[in-house]
Amino acid sequence: MKIHEYQAKEVLRSFGVPVPNGAVARTPDEAEAIAKDLGGAVVVKAQIHAGGRGKGGGIKLAADPAEAREMASEIIGMQLVTPQTGSEGQKVKSVWVENATDIDRELYLGIVLDRAQSRLVVMASRAGGMDIEEVAATTPEKILKEVVHPGVGLQPFQARRLALGLGLEGDQIKQGVSFISALYKAYEETDCSLAEINPLVVSKSGEVLALDAKMNFDDSAMYRHSDIHELRDVDEEDPLEVEASKYDLNYIKLDGEVGCMVNGAGLAMATMDIVKYAGSSPANFLDVGGGTNVERVKNAMRILTSDESVKAVLINIFGGIVRCDRVAEGVVAALEDIEINVPLVVRLQGTNAEEGAQILENSGLEFTVARKLREAAEAVVDAVQNAA
Ligand code: GDP
Ligand code: MN
Repeated sequence: MKIHEYQAKEVLRSFGVPVPNGAVARTPDEAEAIAKDLGGAVVVKAQIHAGGRGKGGGIKLAADPAEAREMASEIIGMQLVTPQTGSEGQKVKSVWVENATDIDRELYLGIVLDRAQSRLVVMASRAGGMDIEEVAATTPEKILKEVVHPGVGLQPFQARRLALGLGLEGDQIKQGVSFISALYKAYEETDCSLAEINPLVVSKSGEVLALDAKMNFDDSAMYRHSDIHELRDVDEEDPLEVEASKYDLNYIKLDGEVGCMVNGAGLAMATMDIVKYAGSSPANFLDVGGGTNVERVKNAMRILTSDESVKAVLINIFGGIVRCDRVAEGVVAALEDIEINVPLVVRLQGTNAEEGAQILENSGLEFTVARKLREAAEAVVDAVQNAA
């Protein structure tokens, strides 16, 4: 789950991470009032889940409250396009107004889970304020890393090594160490999956501050953080993904043309691979899960086929815990209820595959039945190509 910058700053502040003073505004009037309260120059920042807002014109400096109002009226309601939003952009509903900082240096600080090492890694770089993926790709030596042992957590010497590596001096070292430790604590205690401060700045007056803040959370841990779960903004999420999450379906929208309905995440990944291999690409990842019943299959089919880029659907079920006849019943029931105008390929294997195939054949509905995964992939790709 993602949250907005202003929400991340509030969470981080509660853990003792220094952030500029500010407040969120939903109208130009509110932005003006906040700027008046804060005093001096402010920065007006579009709140959308995507980064790269600066490049897209979603971040503006304002010298006084009147200008803050003007900037807010430009930004609120705009369709903000950034390198991370895609070409259609994202509608801005609110702005975060904060005291402007006189920047001396822009640095980078991030915490991620390194799955290969099964460890959290704290990363820091003097090359802040820019695209960190680019820095990692072209000049990896500019990124410092501290791998955290889960049994002991981030050690003070590690935070000091990062602070020194960032070139902090004098009192800034103490501030940097406390910043890094507080960020780590926030990450661990809120079950983050990613925390990123880009840029972390040293101001002209020598303060170490989070100028930007990004926090993503582990969806599976949100049951124990109701306060954070409340920060979810479904307007920022893909509508089909939001719909799927209502039914506990593991659905992720992708940009291909073959709608895939599969049971089990591993089989879903393999299905996506083989669709690619056969010459097309998946429109989604969808794991209908183990306890599949008619309702789930129906909802899954409805979500899958309401995606306009889907040119054909591949249902690939391995009957282990889930029985193929149940899935077949679901597919038949779904096709009776919802109109599906694209070709359908079904592959059933495992428990009650014969019974499942029989149900499909007796239904009088139109679809191709395949036995082998390869055959199924080739059939669905053929269907896509014939449709084109
Ligand atoms: P992003 O583009 O979505 O990553 O948004 P950021 O919050 O990182 O802002 C982008 C850039 O705007 C930063 O790297 C800064 O250079 C600039 N910026 C943001 N806030 C301030 C500020 O208070 N003062 C100054 N001078 N620049 C700022
Ligand atoms: Mn940023």
